[in-house]
Amino acid sequence: HIRKVNENYFGSYSSFGIHREMLSDKERMDAYGQAILKNPSLLTGAVVMDVGCGTGILSLFSAKAGASRVIAVEASAKMAAVASQVAKDNGLWLSKSQSGVDVLQKGVIEVVHGMVEEIDKTVELEPHSVDVLLSEWMGYCLLYESMLGSVLYARDRWLKPGGAILPDTATIFVAGFGKGATSLPFWENVCNFDMSCIGKELVTDAARIPIVDVVDSQDLVTSSAILQSFDLATMKPDEVDFTATATLEVKPTASGNKVRHLNSKTCCWCYGVVLWFETGFTSRFCRETPALLSTSPYTPKTHWSQTILTFREPIAMGLLKQMGFGKENGDEQEAIGTDVYPAVKIDLRISIVRSTEHRSIDIS
Ligand code: SAH
Repeated sequence: HIRKVNENYFGSYSSFGIHREMLSDKERMDAYGQAILKNPSLLTGAVVMDVGCGTGILSLFSAKAGASRVIAVEASAKMAAVASQVAKDNGLWLSKSQSGVDVLQKGVIEVVHGMVEEIDKTVELEPHSVDVLLSEWMGYCLLYESMLGSVLYARDRWLKPGGAILPDTATIFVAGFGKGATSLPFWENVCNFDMSCIGKELVTDAARIPIVDVVDSQDLVTSSAILQSFDLATMKPDEVDFTATATLEVKPTASGNKVRHLNSKTCCWCYGVVLWFETGFTSRFCRETPALLSTSPYTPKTHWSQTILTFREPIAMGLLKQMGFGKENGDEQEAIGTDVYPAVKIDLRISIVRSTEHRSIDIS
């Protein structure tokens, strides 16, 4: 259960640090940049709505890509003012004179201050008249603090039938991680002293709450599986609450995965699972140049990192002799005793549901 006080949700977005972090996230910028700038048949002449424009970067891309009108919606007053200024400074602001004639001929971006759910009276726009709905709505573990509900609202209210939504797919993945992704290796040897009691306490603590941190792909000990996929063009808002199952198989390749050879049988310990997501700008709408934004441990890191769910006790995976495996010592223990059942797969059931707290989620 990730918890955070969200009273000041829009306040937090008006601090520039988070915008700088997002704008510096190369993977994020490349995926959106490619989708918007390299699909001329989609963007040229299009009416675009940017849901939660922040600094306005996606609106600027759209204007550059040849959109005929960009409606940049932003709930934070400070960011809406900033986005207008940035659009002006780049010659892309649409300023209407009394007669309604455009003052800046080149201007196509209109910044609309307000929640996208409440802009009906502020914007001169017919319902279902937007060609391309753009947003960067993803939170940690895809859905934490996510604005997805607002994006789906905007889709149903403003997007043309058959209009494009970018990104148009979102997928949550899961894989098991080994000891290397925990703090145990650090505490086991501090200047040649054994401080593993601290590491064990930290692992026990970590089992209480999901943690956002970077996981190295080297520390994954199982295959990856899709936990849940969403089609943004068709999904219903209540689909964000789900329970899904996945089967993770022990990785066959031992080296580098902290897999130990015990009594000539292979075994490793799975300390928990890591979740991450991808969003796709697929060829359904991005016909010329589809793009993918991945927050996987296998691809360059992003500001979303990954989300780590630690088990209360590690699970032995692979062929092993069970007796003598101290669950506390994990793979440091020798396996002695009789042969028991190989655990080569873990069956997982993970639920992600909206918490009663605004924009928060419960993971179990
Ligand atoms: N599009 C920008 C900012 C993304 S952050 C970029 O890619 O860099 C999300 C932004 O959406 C924040 O600025 C936040 O204030 C805004 N936002 C969140 N929910 C909103 C809603 N319902 N209506 C309008 N803006 C919203």
